[in-house]
Amino acid sequence: MEELQRTLSEKGITVKTLPEKGRCLFSTRDFSPGDVILSEEPYVSVPNRTSTESRCDCCFASSKLRRCSICQVVRYCGSTCQKSDWKLHRLECQALARLGKDRLKYLTPTIRLMVKLYLKRKLQTEKMILCSAVDNYNLVEALVSHISEVNEKQLVLYAQMANLVNLILQWPDITVKEIAEMFSKLACNAHTICDSELRPLGTGLYPVTSIINHSCFSNSVLVFEGKMAVIRAVQSIPEGTEVFISYIETAGSTMTRQKALKEQYYFTCTCPRCMKVGQYDDIQESATLEGYRCKDNGCNGFLLRSSDNNSFICQQCGLTRDKEDIKKITGEVNLLSEKASMLLSSGHNAEAIPMYSGIEKLQQKLYHPSSVNLMRTRETLLKILMELHRWEEALAYCRWTIPVYQRVYPEIHPSLGLQYYTCGKLECACFSDIFTT
Ligand SMILES: [Zn+2]
Ligand SMILES: [Zn+2]
Ligand SMILES: [Zn+2]
Ligand SMILES: [Zn+2]
Repeated sequence: MEELQRTLSEKGITVKTLPEKGRCLFSTRDFSPGDVILSEEPYVSVPNRTSTESRCDCCFASSKLRRCSICQVVRYCGSTCQKSDWKLHRLECQALARLGKDRLKYLTPTIRLMVKLYLKRKLQTEKMILCSAVDNYNLVEALVSHISEVNEKQLVLYAQMANLVNLILQWPDITVKEIAEMFSKLACNAHTICDSELRPLGTGLYPVTSIINHSCFSNSVLVFEGKMAVIRAVQSIPEGTEVFISYIETAGSTMTRQKALKEQYYFTCTCPRCMKVGQYDDIQESATLEGYRCKDNGCNGFLLRSSDNNSFICQQCGLTRDKEDIKKITGEVNLLSEKASMLLSSGHNAEAIPMYSGIEKLQQKLYHPSSVNLMRTRETLLKILMELHRWEEALAYCRWTIPVYQRVYPEIHPSLGLQYYTCGKLECACFSDIFTT
């Protein structure tokens, strides 16, 4: 711990332990928006694996991949990556080569992350891999697991996964119970590693980054440079301030955010945004982001439930919207959504477009113009249209999402920046299309 504090103090940060919230990260100097507060390599990491895409285990590149000739499971982009990973993979490789084909199909990235975690601990204990102040198992040990709050169903799942890990490692001195608790720890602490366009590439465990607490109005963000986690300030952070990141998607009502935090991280958020719950401006914001629109198309008011619970009333013009009317449109949206996502998952992207446009039209009748649900539909359309190189239509959708992005994210935020960037890229694509056709 002292060694960690010394390393962190050089960067202008320190770990404090507060009785009511446990470990917190505080600044010991001023940070300006954009400044790097902390950068950390993962203790262990593993790339995602989909039916269509594999990645190098070391650098997450997706091209020129070759399978490890011994285990036939892990892939590398070249000998440099394979060599730098070999100390750890040598042990994993032996274990995987022992595993039968029928069991290999259950080898998910999460199982591999756990196996790698135990193998790294072993290698560091045996001094085969060096430890440092920010790269040692004690930091992993100190993470919370919330195991006593995990529900029965999840516990069974963790136990099944732990069984497989046990089978792969074949270590007599660790128990299934111990591994199951470690899965619970991973669930609240591991991070999804994304590329610069915020597409998920894999999962990593960053025990120092995990010290940082959550706020729905965070003063910093977590981004990735390759596999390195980088914490950057998005507001000015004066000396002596707690550093916060956001654990969840913050574009949503207070109720939605609180539910997500409770379900995955087992706590009730008391950030400035959440403390406003029940106040007029929080009710207004939540009803705008997730509620219904006024019957009058020209009215921008937000709707609240009537006292008899049979209708919704516009808080601006007083017009009433019948509950049955809303139920009917919601039913149509759900039906279409099911069909659309089925088309999408079976790769029929072009056929899914009219379905999603239908959903969009219905949602425009249903939700407030600044609705997050409507924005998500438009984002889906944007993605599909981009894949099909239908730049002009994609650009229109991208532009429609921007006002909602501006509303739900702080001025300096990677998601908002990326949306501006996508708009710019699409404008370029439209422009060059005019000259090439
Ligand atoms: Zn590589
Ligand atoms: Zn191998
Ligand atoms: Zn909050
Ligand atoms: Zn109205």
